[in-house]
Amino acid sequence: MIYLDNAATTKPCKECRQAVCDTMETAFGNASSLHKLGTSSMQIMSRAKRTILAALSGTKTPLDGTVIFTSGATEGNNTALLGASHRFRPNGKRIVSTAIEHPSVAKVLTRLEDDGFEVVRLAPKDYEDFTGALIGAVDENTALVSAMAVNNETGFKIDIPRLYREVKRKNSKTIVHIDAVQGFLKVPLDGDLISVSGHKIHASKGIGALFIKKGQNILPLISGGGQQGDLRSGTEPIELIAGFEAAIKAYSGDTAKFAEMKAYLLDRLAELENIGINSDALCVPNIINFSVRGVRSEIMLHSLEEDEIYVSSGSACSRGKKSGVLGALGVSDKDADCAVRVSLCADNTAKELDALCMKIAKTIERVRR
Ligand code: PLP
Repeated sequence: MIYLDNAATTKPCKECRQAVCDTMETAFGNASSLHKLGTSSMQIMSRAKRTILAALSGTKTPLDGTVIFTSGATEGNNTALLGASHRFRPNGKRIVSTAIEHPSVAKVLTRLEDDGFEVVRLAPKDYEDFTGALIGAVDENTALVSAMAVNNETGFKIDIPRLYREVKRKNSKTIVHIDAVQGFLKVPLDGDLISVSGHKIHASKGIGALFIKKGQNILPLISGGGQQGDLRSGTEPIELIAGFEAAIKAYSGDTAKFAEMKAYLLDRLAELENIGINSDALCVPNIINFSVRGVRSEIMLHSLEEDEIYVSSGSACSRGKKSGVLGALGVSDKDADCAVRVSLCADNTAKELDALCMKIAKTIERVRR
């Protein structure tokens, strides 16, 4: 099997699997229980929080704030946007965002728009300096900025530390939310609220985290027993949390190696005809989106699947539904129809990319005949 769909999800690493099993075996207590088993679960959770805080910034200085565990980034994004926006009266308040957000942000923004917020969605294709354009759209009425660090379809990247710094300089009251699912452990991050997801970094599905900067407060989305400082009720999945921490510590993705692999793939693709590249040099190197003109995405995807080569036709979350995201990134409709997304992890090899390109060439031949 050649798995090149790591932006959709990753294989849980052995450190994560081990930590999940060990925790189930020996530390299965309820973190709210006052006995020893409960205390030990609480300790696992506190340690995992520290690891996440240290990993979040992508620099040597950990971000200053707290972390709540969520079921994933969909919950993290919903909690951040709804929990923060409840602090404002919508009328006359602006939210600045992008036209390339994941549905777990985009759909919440539409809800907030229905509630009376003015939502401004900028498309990268319209700007040379997109980060600057987002900053420029912030005014004294801007309650929230919500932007993804890295786009899941092409790897398009926003300069998050600059965005955060300059938005705050313009309006210190504006809350900045970052969907960092594809950027976590890959690019420098900052923000008042940051959502990340375990299953994109070799942890299991069903676990994520929401960072809340010191001084920020949000209303909870899920109320109940008051766990996690009453910000996210529900018994904490301690096994998944331990696995998440283990995966962060074991993470071995390396930008320089990804850049080498991307360059290799682009060279191999250049040997084929009618290929358009949708991920430019400004994108993170582990996501490479390209169009094989004349072969629709689904045909290519299923043809590759015959040889157990797994890629994506775009965002796996949209299950083949046409998203406007590629268009907002400047990809024509025609190219979007034949877009293929290859997303790498540290285990992928040049040999696997050779096999991918060989099968693409064969598929082009077959479709032409
Ligand atoms: N945000 C982005 C950019 C994503 O790529 C995804 C998943 O693909 C999500 C949010 C949702 O994350 P989760 O699957 O953890 O709910």
